[in-house]
Amino acid sequence: MTINASGWRPETPVVGNSTAPTFTGNKGLMLEEALIFEIGSAETTGVEVAPPVEAPSRLGTLGRAKPIGLPGLAEPEAVRHYTRLSRQNYAIDLGLFPLGSCTMKHNPRLNEKMARLPGFADVHPLAPVDTVQGALEVIHQLAHWLVTLTGMHSVAMSPKAGAHGELCGILAIRAALEARGEGHRKTILVPESAHGTNPATAAFAGYAVEDIPATAEGRVDLAALTARLGPDVAGVMITNPNTCGLFERDMRAISDAVHAAGGLVYCDGANFNAIVGRVRPGDLGIDAMHINLHKTFSTPHGGGGPGSGPVVFSEALSPYAPLPFVEQTSDGFRLVEEETADEHHDHSFGRMVAFQGQMGMFTRALTYILSHGADGLRQVAEDAVLNANYVLRSLDSTLDAPFGASGPCMHEALFSDSNLAEGFSTIDVAKGLIDEGYHPMTMYFPLVVHGAMLVEPTETESKAALDQFIGALRSVAERAKAGDVALKSAPHFAPRSRLDETLAARKPVLVWKDPELAVAAE
Ligand SMILES: *Cc1c(COP(=O)(O)O)cnc(C)c1O
Repeated sequence: MTINASGWRPETPVVGNSTAPTFTGNKGLMLEEALIFEIGSAETTGVEVAPPVEAPSRLGTLGRAKPIGLPGLAEPEAVRHYTRLSRQNYAIDLGLFPLGSCTMKHNPRLNEKMARLPGFADVHPLAPVDTVQGALEVIHQLAHWLVTLTGMHSVAMSPKAGAHGELCGILAIRAALEARGEGHRKTILVPESAHGTNPATAAFAGYAVEDIPATAEGRVDLAALTARLGPDVAGVMITNPNTCGLFERDMRAISDAVHAAGGLVYCDGANFNAIVGRVRPGDLGIDAMHINLHKTFSTPHGGGGPGSGPVVFSEALSPYAPLPFVEQTSDGFRLVEEETADEHHDHSFGRMVAFQGQMGMFTRALTYILSHGADGLRQVAEDAVLNANYVLRSLDSTLDAPFGASGPCMHEALFSDSNLAEGFSTIDVAKGLIDEGYHPMTMYFPLVVHGAMLVEPTETESKAALDQFIGALRSVAERAKAGDVALKSAPHFAPRSRLDETLAARKPVLVWKDPELAVAAE
């Protein structure tokens, strides 16, 4: 190891663990772990059960012909296997997680305590409604908060993620247009500054997607958008605050223009954390917007879920919202599961999910909302924006900040790779950050900025934590600007060094093959 102006790093890059200096391959508390297929066997098990009583199979020809040979481990080995693997992962409980657009904030433990109360944790989606009145009240109260915070008319609670909420909103827009006899409107306009899921959602729902350019300051080009409106346009999908970390100031004018041309307005509200308590999307003429409970309202995410993406609707779109929803009546709460002739939901487009949505996430989100209160939520947005601007202004003399001159950012700070040394790019900075003990920021996104680095610190980081992160990112950026070749093979301190990500994406190895069998087959 050497120490110099840019910090600690190995003299020779270590590739994988092949040059690890220990007998085990372990590096102190960083433990190597083989695949479960390599250490387990079909004969080993942590539990011994008596062989099943022979009974006639009811599977017919669908019965399994031979054992599937899944590897087993004794209980202590199984516990260690998964604990060791979990330690090779990064988590919000370990440190600042600057992944832009993902709002990786602290998940308060109070939320977990509430979600684990048996009345919520053990609730069954088919339980008789009069036995789950408390759970329905949680859904109803949360719905009330979401409608109030957004200034919208109604909310569909069941969508299970942000992208799922987008689909829900677009299906409601489609149902509304069809009800008006305007099903021929087949194009959805999506600005360049929108999240990638927006065009994917529109295409998935059967629409043609057209790009609207961004202005030099990173916002939707209002003139270009207005010029494109017409009788074939179903609507727009606009991320606000957008993926450049900027608020779309022309939102009201955009909505008015789209409505005047007969279209509807979808807003991607995944970045609501930056404006909660400060801006009500309902005041901006929006017809539908999803909210990521797993971002703004601190329910845990990463590692594939579960998320929760309720969608708020304007009065015009509310009749088309999906079922089910919870309604309060004079004798308690009920689940509205069927379309009725009632004025609220006479045109529902159907269902997004089999049951009612993510009860655990609803409980966590409502706990978070009630423990913050209206004033606390407003402060969340203010502190999230303050922290992002602190990061932006601390680093804009080191890294290029493409929209730094456009004024303050919202919840995330955007940098580019344009002033790094020849041959160095965003990936080198990101991998260098891993050696500094941080999960990388969002890379190469948004697409409007070359070599984008999108940093979202969130409001739950202290000034000391921000200062340490800023110091680490500045140090790595200085090395990339100075052309430090060691950075090209970073990370050096992670369990695995730089991987060939192109190869992994093009030729993913998704199935483990027994090497002995593979040799025998050759
Ligand atoms: C996270 C995010 C989404 C997608 O949300 P998922 O829950 O991951 O499906 C959509 N838009 C924006 C702006 C986001 O940040």
